[in-house]
Amino acid sequence: MNFNDFNLHPCIMEGVNALGYTEPTPIQSKAIPVALQGNDIVGLAQTGTGKTAAFVLPILQKLMPGKRGQVRALIMSPTRELAEQTCTAINKLGKKTGIRSIAVYGGVSISQQVINLRNCAEIVVACPGRLLDHIWRGTVDLSHIEILVIDEADRMLDMGFLPNIKSILDCIMQKHQTLLFSATMPKEIRRLTEDILTQPLNIQIGETAPAETVSHALYPVKQHLKTALLMEILYQIQKESVIVFTRTKHRAEKVADELKKAGFKAASLHGNLSQIRRQSAIDGLRRGSIKVLVATDIASRGIDILSITHVINYDIPECADDYTHRIGRTGRINNNGDAWTLVTAADTGMIRDIEKILKSTIERKTIQGFDYTIAAPVGERVRYERKPARSDAQTSRQSAGRELRNKMFNNRRPAIAKAI
Ligand code: AMP
Repeated sequence: MNFNDFNLHPCIMEGVNALGYTEPTPIQSKAIPVALQGNDIVGLAQTGTGKTAAFVLPILQKLMPGKRGQVRALIMSPTRELAEQTCTAINKLGKKTGIRSIAVYGGVSISQQVINLRNCAEIVVACPGRLLDHIWRGTVDLSHIEILVIDEADRMLDMGFLPNIKSILDCIMQKHQTLLFSATMPKEIRRLTEDILTQPLNIQIGETAPAETVSHALYPVKQHLKTALLMEILYQIQKESVIVFTRTKHRAEKVADELKKAGFKAASLHGNLSQIRRQSAIDGLRRGSIKVLVATDIASRGIDILSITHVINYDIPECADDYTHRIGRTGRINNNGDAWTLVTAADTGMIRDIEKILKSTIERKTIQGFDYTIAAPVGERVRYERKPARSDAQTSRQSAGRELRNKMFNNRRPAIAKAI
C-alpha cells in the first residue's frame, strides 16, 4: 500500500511528499481508509508508530471542502508539548491546504489565544483544562465540530483529565466523527469508548509493547553513585542526544544542575517550569544546542525528536507502561535507540514487571573502570566538578569522569512526588 491508494487531495499529498513519507505505517494503513469513510475508531498503538498522521490526514481531507474560518476539528492532547507537536505536524502535512490550526493550552497568556481563536483556525489542538476555560468564557465555538480526536486517552486518565473531557464532550451537541487513540486500554477508557463512540472500528497495532528498535540494558548501582555513573555514561556517549528521566521535579532540576556544572549541555524539563522554558528545552534538544534533557515523565510521551539516541532512566519508572512510553522517545520510526536504566536493590519488583512486558531478561551491565565500591558519606552532599579542559577534549572528558567517581554525595532521597 502507498499513500496514493488513499486518494488524498493533491494539496495534502504535497505535504506527505514534502515530509518524505513513502509508505504508510501499519496504523496509517489501517486507520486512514476507515477514518476517510467517516467511521469512529479506537486505535491502540504503541508510541512512535505514526499515529499523528493517521488522524491528521483524514482530518485535512475532511476539511478540504466545506466552510473555512470556523473550528471544524478538535484534537484533545494531554500535554502542551504534544499539542504543539501535533500542530507542527498539521502545519507540515497541511502546508498547501490553507487549513489553519492552533494549539490551546494553559501556562501561557489566554488573551493571545482568544485573538487566535477569533481569527478562526479550522483545527484546534487543545489540552482539556484550558479548552474548558475558553468554553466558559465563550471564546471558542464548538458548534461546527465535525471530527473529534482524543489522543493519548490513557495519559489523559492518568493526569485526571477524564471529567474535563466529559464536560467538553457534553458541549458538542451535533453529530460528529470521533477517533480515540490510546497506548493502553484501562477499564475507564474502555467505558469512555463505549459511551462516546458509535460502532467504532478497533485497530490494534501489534501489542502495546516497547518499540522493537530499542535495545535495553540495566546498570545496577547504589543510589548515591547514580549521578557519577550517569556522567560516566554520558562521557562515553558524547555527541549524542539523550533524555534522562527522573521520578521527581526536584531531582530533574538537581541532576540537570549537576550536569551543567560538570560541563554538559544539559537542561531540565518538568511541570514546575514555565511553558517558555519547557519549550526552549525541547527546542534546544531538537536543534542540538542541548544534548542532555533531564525530565520527569512529562516528557515521556510528547517528544518526537528522531535524533534522540538514548533514553536513560536515572530512576526506574513507577510502572511498566511508563517504561514503554519513556523508551518510545528513542528508536522512533526505524531508527535504533538505547534504553538504559540505573537500578538499585529497591527496583527488583519493577524490573520484573518491565521484563515481563519485554518478554525477555534485560542484560545487566557495568561500566568498566567505574568504582562501584565508594561508600556514601554521611551528611555531606557531593558536588561534581569537571577537571579544567585539556587540549584533547576526549581525554579531558574521560579523566573528568574518573575524577567524578571519586567524589561522593549523601543519599538524601527526596520524597517521591506524584506530580510531574
Ligand atoms: P508519531 O507516532 O505520530 O509521533 O510519529 C512518529 C514519527 O514518525 C514522526 O517523526 C513522524 O513524522 C514520522 N512518520 C509518521 N508517518 C510516517 C511515514 N509514513 N513514513 C515515515 N515517517 C513517518
